[in-house]
Amino acid sequence: MSGDDNENLEEILDQLQEIEATLLLPQSKNYFQQVVQDLEPLEALKKFRSEAARSARIHPRLEAIRQELGLGINIEGSPTVALLIHNIPGIEGEYQGVSGKFEPNVRSDLRLGAVSLTHAEGRALAKLAADMQAKNITGGEATLYVDKPLCNYCQKVVFSIQKQYGVKLTIIAP
Ligand SMILES: [Zn+2]
Repeated sequence: MSGDDNENLEEILDQLQEIEATLLLPQSKNYFQQVVQDLEPLEALKKFRSEAARSARIHPRLEAIRQELGLGINIEGSPTVALLIHNIPGIEGEYQGVSGKFEPNVRSDLRLGAVSLTHAEGRALAKLAADMQAKNITGGEATLYVDKPLCNYCQKVVFSIQKQYGVKLTIIAP
């Protein structure tokens, strides 16, 4: 190996270490370690970077929310963030949701099941449903931006907002 290669490798390992330092959850730490074990350092770095870039591509606010809340980079196993932007007459503002312990569950009559209630997608939708119920509003349209692919549970229940509240829902996720 030439001196240059050594320097590069050191730099790559430093950057991997920086990423590892941002990880908060046991499942993201496990995922990180598994990838580092399975791949060459440069390949691992590229994989993490491309995962991290997803949220900014989907909607820049997703990455901003991650940074505001200190959620670390968007690798597998890190908390999920969802952003719900709507056009519903009588309802103001946007809604966001974060998975797991980073937010409490939201009370609403939206049929989400026990799992999706703890997921970013379900929480953002439950906030909207609660406001629509309180104001007795139905209809309109909304787009849900999510920084990771939807899980099987959420895929089944997100359209409850359409069935129960008549909101035409579009999902944008990687
Ligand atoms: Zn989910």
